[in-house]
Amino acid sequence: MRLDMRVNGKTKLTGLIGDPLEHTVSPVLQNSLFSSMGINGIYIPLKVPGERLRDAVNGLKAYGFKGFNVTIPYKRAILKYLDEISEEAELLGAVNTVIIIEDKLTGDSRLRGYNTDGDGFIHAFHKQTGITFAGRKVCMLGAGGTARALTIKIALEKAESICIINRTGSKAQELAEETNGILERRRHCSKIDVSSITGYATGSNAPIRTVTASDFGSTEALHALQECDIIINATAVGMYPDSNASPLQDNFPFRRNQIVYDAIYNPSETKLMSSARLRGCIAINGSGMLFYQGVKAFEIWMDTIVPEKILNELSNEFMKHLQG
Ligand code: NAP
Repeated sequence: MRLDMRVNGKTKLTGLIGDPLEHTVSPVLQNSLFSSMGINGIYIPLKVPGERLRDAVNGLKAYGFKGFNVTIPYKRAILKYLDEISEEAELLGAVNTVIIIEDKLTGDSRLRGYNTDGDGFIHAFHKQTGITFAGRKVCMLGAGGTARALTIKIALEKAESICIINRTGSKAQELAEETNGILERRRHCSKIDVSSITGYATGSNAPIRTVTASDFGSTEALHALQECDIIINATAVGMYPDSNASPLQDNFPFRRNQIVYDAIYNPSETKLMSSARLRGCIAINGSGMLFYQGVKAFEIWMDTIVPEKILNELSNEFMKHLQG
């Protein structure tokens, strides 16, 4: 028998809070990052029931955790327990990564929140497709937390238009208005390169428009979906265990060469992706996004940059693991 020497009194502690956590794959990624970077650290899932969020946060501070990830349903609820948040987290209105910063003199600790989902998605999308969003027409299926982060990031990447299609129309409308508001404020902020957002305006010419369609099959939705360059699924439809469901009908007439990006990574090939592929589209799942948001969180906690060589090797192994 070999002794397991991996954890000791100097091990850096990190983890994930959320509920449910039974199917999380983040520990595989984060613990592999610790070992491949040669850092004595560990990442553990910590299932927290709703009424215990405050206790959980205080506990993590008391145990000297370096930081933690936050997932459903706490990405917004965590905000009230933080001392500060990054500009990006403020912009996206949600936090998925928290670093606990200890003041060596007083022994007190501060909690600073980040959002790495948006950057993780943009990074993965560029890497996997080789294209950027600038000048592209995008359709966003969904208007929940993930759709919000992705829509705002894509808008700031200077997409030509974004059409948000959601089951609950009021949420799509709200997200469209909010995104247009952000673009408008950026346009008037002297620190931002104004030319980069020329063309964006609120009102009838707004690039962000919404379509309400309970089955995503209305004429307006169909038209928007067919004429766009990139379709993103940020709904939960098609996610395990409902892998037989798809936000679009089975025989949806995708245009050849459209890019269909499904934020879902379990299953690794969703029904939406299979139908899109059959019609000659490029179909990508959300595992790249998951990978890069996790890497960015690790870099924040450990104050390091993961070298490209490790990233490439690890991402190959991680994708294989997700494909089962
Ligand atoms: P959320 O905030 O709960 O939003 C869920 C969205 O799905 C809403 O737009 C909701 O529409 C829609 N929806 C749910 N059930 C539906 C149904 N039966 N028919 C039509 N629309 C339905 O969840 P979220 O955190 O944004 O997560 C959304 C997806 O993103 C999930 O599949 C999750 O796996 C994925 N995700 C991936 C990553 C990654 O790293 N790859 C990270 C986070 C999330 P209503 O507004 O009408 O309720």
